[in-house]
Formats: sequence, C-alpha cells, structure tokens
Amino acid sequence: MNQNTPITEVKGIGEKTAKLFAKLDIYHVGELLSHYPKDYETYAPPIPIAQIKPGELCAVRAFVSAIPNQKRIRNLDILNVVIKDDSGAMQVTFFNMPFLKKVLKPGACYVFRGLVQSRGNAKVMEQAKYFTIDEYYKQMNVLMPRYSLTKGLTNKTVQKAVRQALSVYTFEKECFSQDFLQKQGLMSRKDAIQETHFPENMQGVLQARKRIVFDEFFFFLLMLQKNKEVSSALPNAYQMFETADTVRFLEQLPFSLTKAQKKVWGEIRDDMGSSYCMNRLIQGDVGSGKTIVAVLALLMCAANGYQGALMAPTEVLAMQHFENITRDTQQYGLAFRPVLLVGSMTAKEKRAAYEKIADGEANLIIGTHALIQNKVEYKNLALVVTDEQHRFGVRQREMLAEKGNQPHVLVMSATPIPRTLAIILYGDLHISVINELPANRLPIKNCVVNTAYRPKAYAFIADQVAQGRQVYVICPMVEEGEQEDVENVVEYTAKLKSILPSNVQTAYLHGKMRPADKNRVMEEFAAHNIDVLVSTTVIEVGINVPNATVMMVENAERFGLAQLHQLRGRVGRGAHQSYCIFVSANEKKESMERLQILNQSNDGFFIASEDLKLRGPGELFGVRQSGELSFRMGDIYTDAAILQQASEAVEMILRKDQNLESEEYKPLREYLLKADENMVDFRSI
Ligand code: ADP
Ligand code: MG
Repeated sequence: MNQNTPITEVKGIGEKTAKLFAKLDIYHVGELLSHYPKDYETYAPPIPIAQIKPGELCAVRAFVSAIPNQKRIRNLDILNVVIKDDSGAMQVTFFNMPFLKKVLKPGACYVFRGLVQSRGNAKVMEQAKYFTIDEYYKQMNVLMPRYSLTKGLTNKTVQKAVRQALSVYTFEKECFSQDFLQKQGLMSRKDAIQETHFPENMQGVLQARKRIVFDEFFFFLLMLQKNKEVSSALPNAYQMFETADTVRFLEQLPFSLTKAQKKVWGEIRDDMGSSYCMNRLIQGDVGSGKTIVAVLALLMCAANGYQGALMAPTEVLAMQHFENITRDTQQYGLAFRPVLLVGSMTAKEKRAAYEKIADGEANLIIGTHALIQNKVEYKNLALVVTDEQHRFGVRQREMLAEKGNQPHVLVMSATPIPRTLAIILYGDLHISVINELPANRLPIKNCVVNTAYRPKAYAFIADQVAQGRQVYVICPMVEEGEQEDVENVVEYTAKLKSILPSNVQTAYLHGKMRPADKNRVMEEFAAHNIDVLVSTTVIEVGINVPNATVMMVENAERFGLAQLHQLRGRVGRGAHQSYCIFVSANEKKESMERLQILNQSNDGFFIASEDLKLRGPGELFGVRQSGELSFRMGDIYTDAAILQQASEAVEMILRKDQNLESEEYKPLREYLLKADENMVDFRSI
C-alpha cells in the first residue's frame, strides 16, 4: 500500500465511509495519513465542584447523592442526576440514556466529565461521560488525537482507518541521509507519522511535528531557492512609461492616495520603466488599499498597449475585482477592456474569453487559477499581479509569469511578517510596504465577551441593520457534527433567523459550498440583499464590503490572534463606525487576556508575536496563527524556529552542491523533479 492507493482498499473503509472521507478531500492513503490531528485531548485531573466555571470542559470526582430523576419531554428522555463532593453539589443531565438510572445509584462514586453550562445560578454538566476512578486515572496519561471531522465521521473511525493503513503501508525511501537527520535533530518520517497519529506523550508529538513541519518548509524553500537563480534580474522585455491615463484616473478618484500608496506606486513605475523586469511584493495590512495600486500598474500596462492579468485565490474575490474594475472603467473612461476567467464559467463562456485573450481584444484578464490553464494563450502579457499571494503556491505564481514572455510580476499580501522572514519566503522579490491606513477610517471598536453577552449582541446587530448597515458573524465550523462544543455556520444561521426580526435577511457562506453558490451569496451580500452573513473564515480573504460595520466572532478562543486580526479587517472599510465582538466560549482568565491583545494594537505582526509569547508549545495545536501560507501542519509564526532551521539547511546544501548531483543529495533532486512533473504544491505535501 502506498500514498496513491485509494482509501477504499483500506480494510474497514466501505463505500459509505469513503464518501465521508471524500468530503474532507481524502481519497488516497497519502491524504489519509497526512490528515493530521488538529489537536490532542488529554483528561485533566478532576477538580472540586466548587471550582468549576461555566463554559469549561472538566472532570469532577463525585458520588451520586440521590435517586436520579427521570422525565420525558416529547421524544426526549431526560435523566437528572445530582452529584456531590466535599466542596459542593451539581447536576448532571443525560439525554436518551434511561438505562443509566440503574447504573448511577445513590452512593456510587465516579468521575464525570463534560462541558459545564450555567442555568440560572446553578451549574449543569450535560451528557457527561462517566468513568470509574481507575479507568479515569488510566486515561489521564493518554493523548487522544482529535481530527477535523464531518457529520457522520467520528474520531474513532478516522483513527481506526489510519491505524489499519499504517499497518500495511510502505513508506517511500527517506530523501535525507541518516547523518543529516541526526545532525538536524529529526526523527524518521515513518516514526513522525506514527507518532503524530498515535502519540506516546507531548514530547513525542512535538518531535513528530518538528519533522513534518521541517519537511514542509524545507521543500518549499528549496524550490524557492532553485527558482530564484533563474528569475533574478531579467532584462525588461516590456519597458513602459507613465501616460496621462493614470494621472487622470488619480485626479478623478474621490480620495487621494496615502503617502505610503504614493511611494509604492512610484516604485512600481520605476520598475516597469527600468531596464530590468519587475519582481515585487506589496505588503500591506488589511484595508491599507493595495488594490488601487495594482489597478494603477495594470492601467499603465494597458495604456502602453499591453495585456495585464490579475489572479485572485478565490472566485468570490476575482469576481469582486472584476466588477469593481469594470465599474471604474465605465465611470472614469479607463483604457481597460476587461475579461473574467474563472472555473465555474460554462465551457462556452470560457471559449469566448480565451478568444478575446488570444487576439488581444481583452487587455485586462481577471480570474482565479483558471488564468494559468494550458488553454489560455495571451497575446502580449506584460504584467501579472497575484492578489493574496500567500494563498497560492510559489509554483502557481511562477506559472502565471511563464504564460508571458517574462512579464513584470507584482504580488500582494497582507501577511504581517517581519522583514527577515519575508526575505526567506519571498527572497526573489523586492518588497514594498504600505504601512498606513487611509485617513478617513474611524478606529474599530472592539469588545471581548462571553456567551452570556449574546442577547445584547443580537440586539446591537438588529439595531445596526435597522440603520442600514451589514454584519458578519463568524463560526469555526461548517455543520453540525464536526466538533461537539463549537458553533457551526448552518445551525447558527437557523438560530439567528429565529432571533432577529423577520425582515432581517440572513444567509450563510462556507468553503464546502459550490463555487457558484458562494459567488451568488457574496454578490447578494455586496449588493446589500443580505444583511447578516454567517460564515466560516472563507470570508477572511480580501472581501471588501465597506457598508459592513459589525464583525461578531463566535468561539474566538479557537482562532489565532493574527487570524482574528485579518477577520477584523473585513469591517472598518468605510466611513461608518465599525465594531468587533469577539465571543469566547471559554471564560478562563488567560483566554480572555489573550483576546484583549486585539484591543491594544492594530499591527498584525505585533499581535501575532504577542500571542505566541502567551502560549506554551503544547497549546499551539489547533490554532493557526496565519491562516495564510497554508502549509498542512507548519505555521510561519508558531514554527518560526523550524522555518529558520529549514532555511539554513537549504542554504547549506545548495552551497555544497548547487545542482544536487552528489550521491547524498540526488534523492532531493529526484523528489523535486517528480513533484514538478505532478505540479505538486510543496506546501501541501
Ligand atoms: P486591501 O489592502 O486589504 O486589499 P483594499 O484595496 O480592498 O484593501 O482597500 C480597502 C478600501 O479602501 C477600498 O474600498 C478602497 O477603495 C479604499 N481606499 C483605498 N485607498 C484609499 C485611500 N487612499 N483613501 C481612502 N480610501 C481608500
Ligand atoms: Mg485586498
């Protein structure tokens, strides 16, 4: 069995289970094995009843103090059990488990574990799991992996499938020598995969993580470096000069550029007019106004008689760019003849677009990955722009550039990374920074609250909608069943609809919807036919609806602060006062304090690094800091030290053996070649 074996060949995975796995994009054994746990659950020691706080998952060691009370409401069988320890008493509620009445007899002592909620002044643990004292203490030392799931698929099923697959799996030969691994302090790939899924202890988990993340970074950087040799300082095949078009456009705009935008626009103009080909990254925080700078560059390109392309990571974003630019083109009489190209267009629509691109009728091509398909032939592509660069593989950026004859390259990213890291990641690019926001912005008002605040939040939302504003609500999960104690988009939307006034239009959006449906919902939101949009973090990328003034994030404790900061960037984009409500389901002091950092700063990088300081290594699982540069496991902030190590290793190897010809490094070259053929994105291995 190898990575390309279909998962249906794994013993125990039938058609039905395979369909569930398919929802998670797991079709082959390789994908199954790299479906790494999100985090690990451990059973913490029981605590006294008096010390528990609502909203926490905890365990208490207590005895049943009275005969359980059983009642039936419609088809729900409810069993209420009162338990006691030295410090106090509380209620445990079980649904549809009537047989427990015989087990939980007065005087019986167990450990009860579950999520505690407050009901009035009382605390109630719902649908607790119960263990004998012995059982519980045995479990306490075990790390239980928790996977991303989908409705119908349980942790147990995933774990069983992984165990079964691993038992008959043949690992590919290591790309690294024994000596190298030892010097780098890395375990074998095989052990790392084993340990990640079936960990012995936290130490082992961290070691395994180190190896897997090292590989992700190493191959990503190796490719970047190999790539760099070719692309440095190419002669400028499309020397162009500023025309009256851009000047006139700037004069007509309702706002003037910020100082930072002017500076970056100047750098771009200089690049495109110089004797070398432009290769530039624009880094600027969310809302800093990167788009207009790119549009100016594209306009200069069109005015010089060339084609330009703008590639975005999602259809929603591509369509948004297309619509805005088309509108500006008409309004200001710009020299653009734009065309849209995205995957969800019909074959006929695509063919029409291909024709316009090939014969030069279109001089601005806006789209998604569809722009780099083989079928697309450009007439005279002189500038390629990628928006939200971190969402793409390096290879994709490169492929767009290869579409033309060494066109100018401009990439845009909101990733708040320090300069040193930017040099590692974007070593082949010049960097421009937009480090100020447009002046008309009112600072966003933030609050960090617990779930008890919800009724107030809903009233506030209703009020903002009544004033004509729009609202985002973010939930971590898509649908019921992915994870028990976390809010999901589908159910939350139903709940909101029943709470908000009936004239408030509420809809949802998530990554598992068909692209066409996503586009439709986004368009409706942009057109203000939807007032409240409940969404997963898909909304994080680039969306610009200046009329939206409220961002409410449920289970905010589950997100990295840098990611919350990106989410926050979806509001505060217009002239109205905007608000962020971060709802934490966890009332622990540390959790609230961490979220308070968002109040202190608007600097994405500062926020991310403060977040890191507050967490221990074991707590880093399940929290993606960046939500960007999407490696499967690695995270550029959390794993900054491994990133540095991988970067040094790549440099050392290339210094010794530039072309990877020696016996020791040949496997690396073969690996690169194979990956290149299959167009594998190195971030997702
Ligand atoms: P991002 O950098 O996150 O991509 P956008 O380019 O989407 O940000 O810009 C956000 C909003 O700010 C847009 O509505 C845009 O029209 C507006 N904007 C851009 N530059 C300025 C400026 N100098 N003054 C006022 N508003 C601006
Ligand atoms: Mg943007």
